[in-house]
Amino acid sequence: MLSVTDLSSYLYCERKLFLQKVFGLREPLKPALVKGSIRHKTYELVYSGEEKVVSGFSQGMGLAELVNAYREKCAEVLRNVIAGSREQLAMFGLDPEELFSSVLPSIIKEFGERASVVFRFCTEHNVFGKELWRKLEPKVEAELKIVSPDLGLTGIIDHLEVYSSGMVPVELKTGKMPRDGMWPGHRVQLMAYGILLEKHFKTTIKEGFVHYLDAKEKRHLAFNPFMKIEIKEMVEKVNGLFQAKRLPDFTSNKQKCLSCGLKESCYNEAKMREMEGNAQKLPLSNKNQKV
Ligand code: SF4
Repeated sequence: MLSVTDLSSYLYCERKLFLQKVFGLREPLKPALVKGSIRHKTYELVYSGEEKVVSGFSQGMGLAELVNAYREKCAEVLRNVIAGSREQLAMFGLDPEELFSSVLPSIIKEFGERASVVFRFCTEHNVFGKELWRKLEPKVEAELKIVSPDLGLTGIIDHLEVYSSGMVPVELKTGKMPRDGMWPGHRVQLMAYGILLEKHFKTTIKEGFVHYLDAKEKRHLAFNPFMKIEIKEMVEKVNGLFQAKRLPDFTSNKQKCLSCGLKESCYNEAKMREMEGNAQKLPLSNKNQKV
């Protein structure tokens, strides 16, 4: 079964996806990846502990107190996540305290906005504490995993905003944001999550967002029925790639190669020829087991 990230990797560089999934090569860990996963984990854990923050908001309290409760939660979670990543940080000489100070403000800003949403809901509906939590819209589910044997696809959605009127997937991304819209791989990921959600919850997903964390901006995507065809075709193409006996050509965009962690192997002709020969000897069913 393919993962949604296989689809975006395919768009980025077919050859790289082949090297990873068929030859089993792994990109070395990069500091940006470690920092990105710390932020992701923090978001996930703050949202999964949100009930306590919201339920603790009682009548007579103001927005500043709610913002403060989120701030404390963010700081506590981030500290724990960083403490759990000490070994990886040490590998790159990253100082845990410096990382904490550099990452915390953007997380606090994000949850400050969430506090405003909760506060607005609370004042509009005049509900507090446990009742506020029970009625709150949207609730956010973090890291929701969906598997669809029918689509031959599985994925983990960063955030799912749940309203009584429907659901909205939100993908969190660190790094550069395009001038307009979203990067093609991010668009494909979002569409695939929409389709997985529709299948799983038997509902219609009308829209989704990519949240570019560093740029602090959300980019919108309206879903349409043609996206299903696009994703289905892409699943077929990626499966075809995995079953093929040929290593795909280099990407035409050589800029991508400059920052690629598999560059050395990829441009080592003898090594590639040998790995391709070995892969061709494998029965088809074993070829994409290096997932
Ligand atoms: S070095 Fe370039 S062609 Fe090779 S896998 Fe990386 S991005 Fe693709």
